[in-house]
Amino acid sequence: MASALLENPVVPDRRWDVIVVGAGAAGLAAAEQLSRAGLSVAVLEARPALGGRIRTRRMRGCAVPIELGAEFVHGRSEEVFEIASAAGLLIDRLSDSLLAATRSGLKSQLAFWDRFERITRQMRRTGRDRSVADFLRARRSLSPAQRRLAAWMVEGYHAAPLDRVSEHALSTAGDPPSSPEERAQFRVVAGYDGLTNWLRSRLEPKRCGVFLSTPAREIRWRRRHVTVRCEDSQEFRASRVLVTVPVGVLQAAAESAAQSGSILRLPLFGERCPGSRWGMSSRSCCGFARCSGQTRDS
Ligand SMILES: Cc1cc2nc3c(=O)[nH]c(=O)nc-3n(C[C@H](O)[C@H](O)[C@H](O)COP(=O)(O)OP(=O)(O)OC[C@H]3O[C@@H](n4cnc5c(N)ncnc54)[C@H](O)[C@@H]3O)c2cc1C
Repeated sequence: MASALLENPVVPDRRWDVIVVGAGAAGLAAAEQLSRAGLSVAVLEARPALGGRIRTRRMRGCAVPIELGAEFVHGRSEEVFEIASAAGLLIDRLSDSLLAATRSGLKSQLAFWDRFERITRQMRRTGRDRSVADFLRARRSLSPAQRRLAAWMVEGYHAAPLDRVSEHALSTAGDPPSSPEERAQFRVVAGYDGLTNWLRSRLEPKRCGVFLSTPAREIRWRRRHVTVRCEDSQEFRASRVLVTVPVGVLQAAAESAAQSGSILRLPLFGERCPGSRWGMSSRSCCGFARCSGQTRDS
C-alpha cells in the first residue's frame, strides 16, 4: 500500500515529538494544536483521505452537499462554533419541528425531547451497567409508545443495537431537563468537511507530516519512547503517541488475545475481530422536489 505524504517537514533523525494515529476531526484538531505549539507531529491515517467519519460529497445538480457521515451539530457546541467562525463557515439552525413517516402520512412529533428524556431519566447511571434492551424488559411501567420511542431513538438516532448500547451512557437520571439551546440542531451549510479542511489547512507545514494510506498496526511503548509500526512495515518513532481511532476499534484491539502489556495491535477494517464493537452503517439520502406541507400532530 503506497502512503501519500501531504507535507514534508524537516524532523531531526525522523524522531517525532508526537505521533497522532487517525486523521478524523479529533486527530486533526490535536495535530493542529500540537504543531502550532511547536511540536513535530506525524499524523498516520489508514485511509487515502482525511476526515474520518466526516465525509461530505457534492453532486452536480444537487444544491446542497450530501453528508455520508456527520451531518448535524447537536446543541450549541463551543468547539465547533469557534472553528466555524474562524473558518468563515455559515452554520444554520434547523427548525425544531420533527416529522415521523407513518402509514397515515407525516406526523409532527410534539414535545419529542421531553418524551424521550422522561425515559432516559428512568435509566440508571450507577451500579452494574446493562443494555437498553434489558432496561426496557425490566421497566414494566413504560407504555408501548415509550418503548417504541426508546427503540427508535437508540436504533435510528444513535445507530446502535438495543442489546449492545449501555443504559449508563444514555441515562440522564438526576440531570435538569435539557435547555432549548442543548436540543437545538444545526448544520454547516457548505458541508461538514469545511471544519476538517480548515483544521488540515492550519497544520504547521514545517513540523507536521500527514501520511495517508498508512494504517498503524502495532504500537510499542517504552519509557519516554514509542514506536508505531505500520501495515507497510514503515516504523515511526516519537516520545508520545495519541490514538484517535474509533472506540470500537480500540475495544477490539484491547480484547484481542494477541495483546501484551506494552504492545497494542490495531485491527484493520474488514478484519474479523472477536467481540468487535464496530459495524457497517448505510445511509440513504432522499431529495424531494416539493414539500406537500400536510402533516398531522401526534
Ligand atoms: C453515518 C454517521 C452519521 C453521523 N452523524 C453525526 C451527526 O449528525 N453529528 C455528530 O456530531 N456526529 C455524527 N456522527 C459521529 C461523528 O462523525 C464522529 O463522532 C466524529 O466524526 C468522530 O471523529 P473522530 O476523529 O473521533 O473519529 P473518526 O472520524 O472515526 O477518525 C478516526 C480515524 O482513524 C482512522 N484509523 C482507524 N484505524 C486506524 C489505524 N489502524 N491507523 C491509522 N488510522 C486509523 C480512520 O480511518 C479515521 O479516519 C456520525 C457518524 C456516522 C458514521
